[in-house]
Amino acid sequence: MGDRWVELADRVWVRRCEELDLSLGLVVGDDSCLVIDTGVSAEHGYEFATAVRELTPLPWQIAYTHDHFDHWFGTAAFGESAVWAVADGARFLSVGDVQRRRWAAKYRLQRREEAARAIGRSRLVPPNCRVNGAIGLDLGGRTVVLRQAGLAHTDNDMVVEVPDAGVLFAGDLLENGAPPSYGDAFPHHWPQVVEHLLSWRPRTVVPGHGDPVDYWWARNQARDMAEVSRLCAEVARGLVSAEEAAAHAPFGPETMRIALERTRLPAPPVPRAGVAAPEAARTAGVALDAALWAQVGVYEDPDCGVEPMQGSDEGQPPS
Ligand SMILES: [Zn+2]
Repeated sequence: MGDRWVELADRVWVRRCEELDLSLGLVVGDDSCLVIDTGVSAEHGYEFATAVRELTPLPWQIAYTHDHFDHWFGTAAFGESAVWAVADGARFLSVGDVQRRRWAAKYRLQRREEAARAIGRSRLVPPNCRVNGAIGLDLGGRTVVLRQAGLAHTDNDMVVEVPDAGVLFAGDLLENGAPPSYGDAFPHHWPQVVEHLLSWRPRTVVPGHGDPVDYWWARNQARDMAEVSRLCAEVARGLVSAEEAAAHAPFGPETMRIALERTRLPAPPVPRAGVAAPEAARTAGVALDAALWAQVGVYEDPDCGVEPMQGSDEGQPPS
């Protein structure tokens, strides 16, 4: 069984991939289309680009949900294109370099030499258009929204909303079939970011890995993330031990251990932060102390500014 398309709504598809159970996206308008993430290697990207061309001949733009390699190492196959992301190109390249080495070693340990070589020879394509807050992209007859969302799974998460189809591409903010990945995450910020993203009640939510889910599934996962956050806070205050927290953690002991480690590190400032009122905090179902809420970013009134990637002459945002 290879990778396959699943149609979610009118001209909205998810590409379900064997490798890492990845979910890539495609939204097609009357004039152009948006490709959401590009796969684990250049070779995977070629397969994906070919599959996109089986569905539409329209010009494409690309959105990166975040800087983890499996979401953007396939881009070389797509040629010259606008590539949207929250973080800048230099950041993507430095993270990509580290991830390439780490994952090549991991694949070799699994005796998957071909997979290790495939990421080794993938030409990395950094983003050339930055999203600050949120922007709408007019694909012709339909507008999709690219929205900065975090701190959450990483410090540069971006989701794609397709309002007319009720679809939210959530990147790794949600994960189906495996625990959410906390390795670069901000456990106290993550759950209410997801709650906030769900506030328009999308019908279908596409996690970065695993099958698409519905609104209620996504809301449940956000509730479990809130429980992880609460346990981290209680361990920090000495109310429960790390062992107790691990034993009762929603995503299992290993994920809890990583989440605890992450909360011991200082978090960077929340990008474009507003301040969530305690009332909003309660609505989100997360009980944490006031000092923490003061750091919480909300995106009720996103700034729709677009600026070209800094420090690069590669590409301009489309006008
Ligand atoms: Zn990720």
